[in-house]
Amino acid sequence: MKVETTQFKEVTAMQDEVDMQAYWMPYTPNRYFRKNPKIMVSAKGVYYTDDHGRKLLDGASGLWTSPLGHGDPRIIEAIQRQYHTMDYVPAFQMASKETFRLANRITQYAPNGLGKVFFVNSGSEAVDTALKIALAYHRAKGEASRIRMIGRERAYHGGCVGGISVGGIPTNRKMFGAIMMPGVDHLPHTLNLSQMAFSRGQPTWGAHLADDLERLVLLHDASNIAAVILEPVQGSTGVIVPPLGYLEKIREICTKHGILLIFDEVITGFGRLAANFGADRFGVKPDMITFAKAITNGVIPMGGVIVRDDIYETITGIGGQEQLIEFFHGYTYSGHPLATAAAHACLDIFETDDIMARTKVLDQVLGDAVHSLKGIPGIIDIRNCGVSAAFDLEPIAGKPGLRGMQILESCIEHGILVRITSDTIAMGPPFVASSEEVQSLVEIFSKVVKKAF
Ligand code: PLP
Repeated sequence: MKVETTQFKEVTAMQDEVDMQAYWMPYTPNRYFRKNPKIMVSAKGVYYTDDHGRKLLDGASGLWTSPLGHGDPRIIEAIQRQYHTMDYVPAFQMASKETFRLANRITQYAPNGLGKVFFVNSGSEAVDTALKIALAYHRAKGEASRIRMIGRERAYHGGCVGGISVGGIPTNRKMFGAIMMPGVDHLPHTLNLSQMAFSRGQPTWGAHLADDLERLVLLHDASNIAAVILEPVQGSTGVIVPPLGYLEKIREICTKHGILLIFDEVITGFGRLAANFGADRFGVKPDMITFAKAITNGVIPMGGVIVRDDIYETITGIGGQEQLIEFFHGYTYSGHPLATAAAHACLDIFETDDIMARTKVLDQVLGDAVHSLKGIPGIIDIRNCGVSAAFDLEPIAGKPGLRGMQILESCIEHGILVRITSDTIAMGPPFVASSEEVQSLVEIFSKVVKKAF
């Protein structure tokens, strides 16, 4: 039987020419989207253009991916150059010099002592890789009973099996409990509006919530616990900033009991918190850091884990025959040459354009702007840290998430893009946005909220 094929239709300025039959969209209410499509057709600088021809200020840096804006010719040229030189290198048993050089470069951004980098292709893979490294490390040290992992409520650590297990997203847990890792506990999340609503930066209440880790150690015994994994600022759930002293306490308890501390910095890494990593911003050194997104400005997928030197030394120094693989893990595209080229170009731009200085300016600008919205009806919390911020909005009774969706749509009509998680609206503008652009993002958002309530 002849299969009818759907003709490819070029995206034009006409929304109704997009054939939506086949594409099953990720983390998207697909039925709602088909009735209310949001189709982007181009991106340049800090603006997207949609299929209505509307120019939209990118208030979310893509998906936290694009701090350098869109279409920087320096990134494009680097990728093109690499493509013409060598488009692919087998990731196992071989490498390009540039991937070694990139690993060295990334460690310059990381805290002292975190001197090894394992490359992957996404944040989800970075998280699962870090969990595997934790298991391999303890086993190599002769502490193979350390297999339990500790995550946190509301955490998002990607969509792979390790990540959903240590993550604290109820929908994931409800739907995929059957394939989750056993032996995982969760610390409480730290958001408590009655104690900290409208805090600017780190809330002063909540450090004591770290003590729950001691409770879990008492319950399971440290000899069974491999690692704690935390986002220094919980990004996906809506920019939940750690209470003052909280991360320090977690570090102290982990160190006391020989438990590894992993910071998942897939969103917070490379400037989002106006520092290289959350580790610098909060002055707390983890044993591993996961990264992705901004390392290539979202242009080509890449992620990785930055690892304490002695963890690497322990795993690779287990003895045995040298021709045997010490850590049995990797991906076909680990350290892909095109992603590597994009990452070098991004770090070049960070350095030559002094992007970190820019993040420090925007930290203030965004913080001032978002907190000026306190008192607007419907806004029940405002949070910020670095170049990220979030608003909790009063939900529509009985319809969780509808408020957020309507606000997103109204934002688009008014020329801005924001990020929604249910009824929480997050902002994370590109670092190359001007102060005026960031202020106008927040100003337009305030008009949208005033209209909605
Ligand atoms: N970890 C954190 C903290 C994230 O925010 C995300 C994605 O937003 C991930 C992991 C998963 O990254 P990816 O979607 O690249 O797999």
